[in-house]
Parts: sequence; C-alpha cells; structure tokens
Amino acid sequence: MYPIDINELSFAYEQRLILNNIKLQVHDGDFLGIVGPNGSGKTTLVKLILGLLRPMHGEVKLYDQLASNFAQRHRIGYIAQRSASINLGFPATVQEVVAAGLLSRHKLFGPLKKLDRLQVDKTIELVGLSSYRRHLLGNLSGGQQQRVFIARALVCNPDLLIFDEPTVGVDAESVDRFYTLLEELHQCHKKTMVLVSHDIGVITTKVNKVACLNRELYFHGDCHEFISNQEQILEQAYQHSVQVLSHNH
Ligand code: ADP
Repeated sequence: MYPIDINELSFAYEQRLILNNIKLQVHDGDFLGIVGPNGSGKTTLVKLILGLLRPMHGEVKLYDQLASNFAQRHRIGYIAQRSASINLGFPATVQEVVAAGLLSRHKLFGPLKKLDRLQVDKTIELVGLSSYRRHLLGNLSGGQQQRVFIARALVCNPDLLIFDEPTVGVDAESVDRFYTLLEELHQCHKKTMVLVSHDIGVITTKVNKVACLNRELYFHGDCHEFISNQEQILEQAYQHSVQVLSHNH
C-alpha cells in the first residue's frame, strides 16, 4: 500500500488534455520533488491527489483508497502557495490559525480541550514560532506566515505532507529556514512529503525522488539518477535547454 499510487491518469479541463497517462508511486518516507515548467499540470496533479478533481481516465489512490473518496483527511497535510493561503477576512492569532487545523478532525467549533491546546503549542514550537503564539497572523513576515500554515497542516500529525510552490513570495532568508524545517520533518519526523517547485537547483539538494512533468512524466525516479541525466531530461520536458542554477548549501 502506497501513500500515493497513480495509474494511467489522464485529465482534461473541458476538451484540453492537461495530464496524459501519468503513472507515479510515492512510497512511505519518500520526499518527492515535482518539477516542470509553468502550466505543465503540477497544480492540477496536486488537486487530483487531494481528491479535489476527478480523473478523466485512470485512478489516484491514497493509502489504497480512491483520492476522491478518501475518508481519513487528517492523514494528509496540504500547504498551498503563500498568496493563495492568505485569505483570512478576520484577524486571527497564530494559535487560532494553527488550532483551525484540528477542525478537520473534530468538525466542531468550540473551546479547545487541554490536550488539543498542548498539541497546538507543541506544533507552533516545532516550526519555531513559540514567541509569536499570540501575535496576529497579519503582523508576521511572509516566511513566518508560511510556517504558521505548515503548523496548521501539521497539527493533526498527518502522515503525508503536500507542498505546492510553498516558497513563492517568501524572502530568501525565510526560504532557507523553510527548507531546513522540511528536511527536519522528513528526516526526524519521518513524514512522507511531496514538494512542487520550479526551483530545480534547490529541490534536488533536498528530495530523494524526482518527478519531471510537462503534461506527461518525463522522469520519475531517484534524485541522483535525475541529477546525472538532468540536462537531457529537462531539454525533453521543457523542449529547449534549461540552465539550472546550482546551490551549494
Ligand atoms: P502548473 O501548476 O504546472 O503551472 P496548472 O496545473 O496550474 O500548471 O495548469 C495546467 C494548465 O491547465 C494551464 O494551461 C492552465 O492554464 C490550465 N488550467 C488550470 N486550471 C484551470 C481551470 N480551472 N480551467 C481551465 N484550465 C485550467
């Protein structure tokens, strides 16, 4: 049983084929980076994995259940692009935003039980924001806000974390902290993780598996295999040569 098991998946918006015959497995403990040009179908694939869209052909399974019927939502944490996440029409503190992540488990509003409060504070500590617990989200920096959203996704202790371009709009220093947190979640907390990113140079220093997508999968396998062949793979996927900036940290 795989956390994610995708077979013969095709998807179209109206008549336009966006994903063609995708086969992809994510194993327990994998840290998969999904790369590909703009408009290559990465977010669409994430929406299919989250069960927000239904395949036109083929299937997407989460822990052996069809994604569209997946009942154990608390096992999946999803972190969207920062700009998409920040849409709170009310002033909320860090604690309140993180506690909202528990609602998917309880489905009820109301005062938090002591155990839940402990869990919220422990998760805020994990993302390094303990001293900001009572601060309003709107008063934090972009990078800190993104860590709040990670805490909200983590508070239910999910097995699988999915990040869609999480560093867009986040300043460089926060991006470094952010990747350190991701490595910690993967290595120390043994989370299975999927990270969609356009920053191939950075993510190939973090992940252990890579999927290169442009409507079809051009590569799916170990990161070191991707790195050894990346020029060819990227040239095919992007249909022209791509300069990859390497990062030595
Ligand atoms: P990526 O995340 O790789 O940038 P997307 O999955 O967002 O790619 O988009 C893939 C293609 O699907 C793009 O051409 C985009 O314009 C199109 N698209 C995305 N969402 C919709 C939608 N709701 N309706 C119609 N077309 C869409």
